[in-house]
Amino acid sequence: MSEQRQLFETEAPAWEADDAETARVCTVIFPTGPEKPFDYLVPETLRDAVEVGRRVRVPFGAGDRRIMGYCVEVSDRPLGRRRLKPVLEVVDEHRLLTPSMLRLTRWMAEYYLCDWGTVLDAVLPAGVRDAAGTRLTTLLTLAPKIDARLATAKLPTKQLAVIDVLRAAREPLTPKQLANAAGCAQGPITALRRKGLIISETRRLMSEMDELPTAPQTDGHQLNGDQQRGLDAILTALRAREHKTILLHGITGSGKTEVYIRAIQEVVSYGKQAIVLVPEISLTPQTCDRFRARFGRVAVLHSHLSDAERHAHWLQIAQGSVPVVVGARSAIFAPVPHLGIVVLDEEHESTFKQETAPRYHAREVALRRAREDHVPLVLGSATPALESWQRARSGEFELIELPRRVLDRPLPEVLIVDQRHDAQQGRSGAISRQLQHAMQRALGSGGQVILLLNRRGFSTHIQCPACGKPIRCPHCDIALTHHRHDNQARCHYCDYHTAPPRECPSCGGPEIFFGGYGTQRLEADVRAMFRDYTCQRMDTDTMQQPGSHERALARFRSGEVQILLGTQMIAKGLDFPNVTLVGVINADVALHLPDFRAAERTVQLLVQVAGRTGRGEQGGRVMVQTLNPDHPAIRAAARHDYARFAEAELRVRQEHHYPPFAAMARLVARGPADEVVAGFMEHLTERLREAFQAIDSGARILGPAPAPIAKIRGLHRFQIQVQSATHEQLHAGLRAATDELTVPDHVQWIIDIDPLNML
Ligand code: ADP
Ligand code: ZN
Repeated sequence: MSEQRQLFETEAPAWEADDAETARVCTVIFPTGPEKPFDYLVPETLRDAVEVGRRVRVPFGAGDRRIMGYCVEVSDRPLGRRRLKPVLEVVDEHRLLTPSMLRLTRWMAEYYLCDWGTVLDAVLPAGVRDAAGTRLTTLLTLAPKIDARLATAKLPTKQLAVIDVLRAAREPLTPKQLANAAGCAQGPITALRRKGLIISETRRLMSEMDELPTAPQTDGHQLNGDQQRGLDAILTALRAREHKTILLHGITGSGKTEVYIRAIQEVVSYGKQAIVLVPEISLTPQTCDRFRARFGRVAVLHSHLSDAERHAHWLQIAQGSVPVVVGARSAIFAPVPHLGIVVLDEEHESTFKQETAPRYHAREVALRRAREDHVPLVLGSATPALESWQRARSGEFELIELPRRVLDRPLPEVLIVDQRHDAQQGRSGAISRQLQHAMQRALGSGGQVILLLNRRGFSTHIQCPACGKPIRCPHCDIALTHHRHDNQARCHYCDYHTAPPRECPSCGGPEIFFGGYGTQRLEADVRAMFRDYTCQRMDTDTMQQPGSHERALARFRSGEVQILLGTQMIAKGLDFPNVTLVGVINADVALHLPDFRAAERTVQLLVQVAGRTGRGEQGGRVMVQTLNPDHPAIRAAARHDYARFAEAELRVRQEHHYPPFAAMARLVARGPADEVVAGFMEHLTERLREAFQAIDSGARILGPAPAPIAKIRGLHRFQIQVQSATHEQLHAGLRAATDELTVPDHVQWIIDIDPLNML
C-alpha cells in the first residue's frame, strides 16, 4: 500500500491536528466517481463501526457531496500536516468483504486494468449491497446494572414479568416477541423503556430467511481406476493443505462429476466449503440435482433469484452454513468462510469470461483465490482450453486423464457427411439423405435424436440474387436474419427489425432470396419429414421464460419428445441414455470466423455434442455434415483425438505468437463519428508503440483496424490488438500508454486482457 499512499489526495480541511498527534484514519475506495483512494478521519463516535470491508458515507468535493465508498484500510497514523474530513456514517451493519476478498479484488483491478471500485461493486450482488429483503427492527435488552436499579424501583407485576422474560432471553427481542412472551400488551414495555430500565436499538434484519432445501442423500458409484487416480491427486493436495491445480481431462461420460463429488465430500468432512462453477446454471439442471442429492444443503446461485433471495443465500454462505455453492462465474466470489476446494466444470467454456468491466475470467480468479487459500483447484473438461492444456504440458498444472467412459461404454462412432457434392448439385436441404436415413433408423428402433445447428432464426441471409447484396441492419454491420413466425427481418445485435423488403434496396431488383438455415427452418423441415414424431426446439428464442429449459428437458427425458434440436445450448452436459443419434447440421458455422480460436471452438462444440450420445446400452452414433471434411478440427472431432488436435494447434499458436505463448490484450473504441474514433485509435497506437519500445521491443501491435463487426447500434468500432511476451510486460506497456490519455467526447474505449471475444 505504501507507494499507493503517495498518490492519495487529501480533501480540504475539516479538522487540523498537531504534527505529532496520531489519529485513526480510514482509506476509502469509490465505486463511482473518483478513481483514486482518499483518506478520511474516523470520528470517536464511529470508532467501533468503521471497519475494513464495510461501506461508509463521506463528504467529497467542494460542495461536500455525500458519497459512498468502501473502507479498505483502517489504521492509527500521525497526520502530520494532512488535513482530513471525517467519515459521516457507516452504511453496513457487518463487513461485506473479508481482507482476503479485498486482496483478490485489488489483484483483479490490477490484472484487468480497471478501477478497484468497479471490481468491488461487481463482486457483491446488488441484493447484498442494497440489503434486499431486510427491514429496520427495534431490539430490546435490559439496561446495565438492572438489579441495583430494580431494588429501588417499585414496579407493577406486568412490568416485572417483562423484566423476567428479558432476563431469561439469550438474545435481544423485538417488542412484539417480548409482549407475546410476557403475555402483555405494549403498555408495560413502553413504560419500562421510558424509565430507562429497558434499552432499545435499531438493527437491520432479514425479514425472512428461507432455509435451503435439504434433499435426501444418495450414494455414489464405486469409482473406476481412472477416477480413483484423479481423486487421489486431489486428495493428496487437500491433505497437504497446499494449492495445486489439477486438470481433469476426461472424455464425455468418463465420470468427472463423480470425482468432484468425492473430493468435495472430503472437504465437507473437514467442515470446509466447496465452490463449484458451471458454465450456465439453466443448462445444467442435471448437475445441480446431482450435487443436491449428494450434499443436501447446496446453494445454487442461478440468474432467476430475486435480490432478497440472493442476499439471504449470501448471508447463509458467509455464516459457513452452506457446504457447497454451485453457480456460474460470479459464484467464485461466494463469501464462504473456509474455502476447501474450487471446481470449474467445462473449464474451456467462454461463459467463464465476463464481457463487461471487470472483464475477468473465472478460471484466473479461481486460481488466484485457491492459491491464496492453499486449496486445490480442479479444472474439468473433455476439451480443455489450449491455455490450460499448455499449463499442464509445462508442469504448472497436474494433468489427469480419464480416457475411458464409465462401465467401459464405447465412444460413439462419428461419421462425416461430405456435403460438397450436394452443394455442387444445388441440393441445399438442411438434412442430407444419409442423416435422414440414420434418423429414421434411430427413431424406428425407439431411440431419440439430437440435432445441432448453431444459428437461430429461419433464413440466415436475405439477399438480392441480381446484385448479390444481403440485407443488412442499418445500425450494425450485420446481415439480417429472417424470423418467419412474425415475418420479420431481425438484427441479432440490436433490436432492429422490419418487414422483409419486396425488392432489393440496393439495385431495385424485383426478387428477394431467403437463404441459409436457422433453427426455425430446420424445425419446419424436421416436422415435415418426420410427421410421426414430436420435436422440440431449444434456442434463445424459445427459451425466454424462467424454467423453460427444465420443462423442455423434462419432456425429452420422459420420451414425450423424440427429436431435440437447437443451438449450442443442447450440446452441454445433458445425460440422456436413450439418445442414439446426434446430427450436426452444419459443422462449419464457426470455422471461418476471424478469430484465432475458431478451430478450437469448433472441435470443442463438436466433441461436446457428440458426447450426448452412446450413454446407454444401445450405444450411439454421430453424423457431422460439413463442407470441410479435411479440416483438422473436424477430423479431430471425428477421431475423438483432442490431444492430437491440441498439439498441432499449439504449434500454430506458437508460430503466430498467440496465447498461450504470448499475453494478449484487445483495445476497442467506439463512437458515433467514424473518423473521430479512428483518429483516437491512431493516437493510442502511437502511444502503445512508444511505450512498448522501452518495455518489450518484440511486442506486436496490430491496428488500428475496424473491428470485425465494424458497427453496432450505430456506433463505429475500431480495435488494436497487442501481443507481448509476458503479462508483466503487457501490463507495464498498457499502463504507460494509457496513463493520462485524453479521450475525445463521445468516444468510449475498453481494454480487454486475455480477450476471448475477437469480434
Ligand atoms: P462426465 O462428467 O465426465 O461427463 P459423469 O460424471 O456425468 O461424466 O458420468 C456419466 C454417468 O456415469 C453418470 O450417469 C454417472 O452417474 C455415471 N457414473 C459415474 N461414475 C461411475 C462409475 N464409477 N460407475 C458407474 N457409473 C458411473
Ligand atoms: Zn442492429
